[in-house]
Formats: sequence, structure tokens, C-alpha cells
Amino acid sequence: MNFKNFPMVSKVVFGRGSFNQLEEILLLKRLNVNAPFIFLVDEVFQGNDKITSRIPLSYEDEIIFISAEEEPKTKQVDALVEHIILKYKDRPSGIIGIGGGTLLDLSKAVAIMLTNKGETSDYQGWDLVKNPAIYHVGIPTISGTGAEVSRTTVLTGPEKKLGINSDYTPFDQVLLDPELIEDVPTQQWFYTGMDCYIHCIESLTGTYLNAFSQSYGEKALELCKEIFLNDDLSKKESQDKLMMASWHGGMSIAYSQVGVAHAMSYGLSYLLGTKHGVGNCIVFDHLEEFYPEGVKLFKEMKAKHNIKLPQGLCKDLSDKDFEMMIDVALGMVPLWENALGNNWHKTMTREKLRAMYELM
Ligand code: NAD
Ligand code: ZN
Repeated sequence: MNFKNFPMVSKVVFGRGSFNQLEEILLLKRLNVNAPFIFLVDEVFQGNDKITSRIPLSYEDEIIFISAEEEPKTKQVDALVEHIILKYKDRPSGIIGIGGGTLLDLSKAVAIMLTNKGETSDYQGWDLVKNPAIYHVGIPTISGTGAEVSRTTVLTGPEKKLGINSDYTPFDQVLLDPELIEDVPTQQWFYTGMDCYIHCIESLTGTYLNAFSQSYGEKALELCKEIFLNDDLSKKESQDKLMMASWHGGMSIAYSQVGVAHAMSYGLSYLLGTKHGVGNCIVFDHLEEFYPEGVKLFKEMKAKHNIKLPQGLCKDLSDKDFEMMIDVALGMVPLWENALGNNWHKTMTREKLRAMYELM
């Protein structure tokens, strides 16, 4: 038996207003004046002085604003890396991602691809990265995915949507400032927050469960219940707690796996471009059979926050479309194994999956 030996985020700072400390943190990491820090920042903050005026720029440092409208692509990473290599004499001192899962994943991938040859899609998979990434920092501005702690960066490539899972992927530094998630619109707050909730349910009910994952998953689940079902928390408390729920939810799946909702939502995402958070919600809403307790609570949360999920996504799909979605979903073998055990094929047939997709 070979147990996984996981790297973790090396340094983390937590606190309201800790974003102001970024300059001090980076100061120690500058390699030389020709080696810039590159800030990859969600476009939603362009023109937002509250954020941009606090990004410490000196020498040749650069801010690149990037839209999170679409999930990250391997081609996009290749283009960013090429831009950086052509523009600067020296390799950057660091990459700093400011945004949600989309920007965090892009930053991890760019940091890896600055020191590894070839195309980003060559590294989608497990432990394919050869050289350590350059210094990279993650600063979440919306919470739930766990991308700030995870060992993967999920990318859509020419052939597949798959993470670069490697020991070099996790951030060297994470900065958790709950003030940064203040202005997230309710719908999006719910979708991304539910990603965390679904991580907990899928991890805690999975066959891969162990004490390591359980300890993180139970804590994250407890926090999610407080945040999404109780009225006792102030806005600030709720923001603080959601940041930590996301962290714990991410840690919980490090040593286990996600399950049915994620496998099916990968299918939706690949074919229709449905984003991770909302896609998981759309699927999870129909998974009573697999997660009866979890789905019941999910429906309560949905009602409490007045969330109307998109309907009828699959109503005009062709047989070929369904086949493609089913192929993508069934390809996620560890997720099915975690959710349903070794004999998962017997429960999750192509026909069954198709019937489930048809409801969505
Ligand atoms: P996101 O980064 O896609 O952003 C969602 C929306 O929220 C965007 O419109 C963005 O502009 C907006 N937004 C972000 N911060 C905001 C703020 N402070 N104020 C107002 N608007 C704000 O959202 P996400 O759900 O965090 O990330 C989804 C991505 O994360 C997917 O690409 C998914 O594949 C990835 N993911 C990665 C992991 C991992 O471990 N690496 C895990 C789960 C999901
Ligand atoms: Zn997820």
C-alpha cells in the first residue's frame, strides 16, 4: 500500500484587511528589478479602486485583467505564458491570482508553465509536471471551490476538461481576506458556496472516506449549515466562515474524492460550457436517490435564498450530444467509485445517466 504524500499551501494569512499586507509579503520574494510580479486579476475589479489601488506595483510589475465569464482553457494559459516570456527579460518573481476559482486556476497553471516546456495540455493528468512552478500566490475573492488549497488546476483542453494534478500546483502563499468577498452577487455567492457544500456531502458519503477527510468535511459542513440555513450570523461572520468552509471543504477532498454531482456536471460543462458552481447545483438538485439527506438540505437552502436554478438545459440536445456528455461523465472513474463503490457500472448505466440528464 502506497499512501499519498501531499504537499500543502506553505503559507497562509487570514484576516479582514489582510490584503493590505500583500506588499510586505511580496517584498521578500522579489528576485531582482527585472523580474516582475504578474497579477492576474478578475476583470470584474477593473476600475474598482478599492481593490486595484491596493495592488502593490513597482518596477516592471504588471496587472493583467482576465474575464471569468468562461472557465480557464489550456490555450489561454499558453497565450499568457507566451506574453510573459516575450515581454520580460527575466522570469517573473511570482504570479499572483486575484479572483475566484477561474483566476486561481489560471494563476497556478501559468506559474507551472513558465518553468515547463511544451503546451499546457501536455500536463493535464496526474503527476506529469517535471519542474517546480515559480512562486505563486492565491487571493480568493469568492469562496467555495477550495481551489485556494487544492493540488489541481482544472482546465479545458482540446480533448478534455482535466486538472493538472501535481505536487507543484498548490500555492506557495494564500491570502484570505473575507472583506474581498463582500460584493459577490447573491446568485453567484450561492452557486460557488454550494460547490463547497457539495464537496462535503460527496466526500462524507463516499466509499473513500477516512478520518483525515472526515475531520475537514464535517467542519466544512457544519459551517455551511450555519451560513446557509441560520439567521444568527452577521454578514461579516458569515463571510469569515465561508472562507474557512471553502478551505476545509477543499482539504476534505484532497484525501478522498467528489462524486455523482461533479461527474455529471463535468459532462454539462464540456458540452454546454455550464460553469462549475451552477452546473453542480443543477445536477445536485436531482440526486435525491444518491444523497437523500444532502439534497433535502440543499432544497431548503435554495428556497431560503430564493434561488431559481436554470431549467431545461438538455431539452434540445441530440443523441450525439447526450452520448458525448455521458462519455465525459463516465470517464470520471474515481468519482463514481467513490460515490457508488467498485461495482458502480451496475448502478450507473448509460441509460440511467441519459434519463437523469433529460431531467435537467
Ligand atoms: P469564478 O472564478 O468563475 O467567478 C464567478 C463569477 O463571480 C465571475 O463572474 C466573477 O467575475 C465573479 N466574482 C468573483 N469575485 C467577485 C467579487 N468579489 N465580487 C463580484 N463578483 C465576483 O467562480 P468560482 O465558482 O470560484 O470558480 C469556478 C472555477 O473554479 C471553475 O473553473 C472550476 O473548474 C474551478 N474549480 C477549481 C477547483 C480546484 O481545486 N482547482 C475546484 C473547484 C472548482
Ligand atoms: Zn467542485
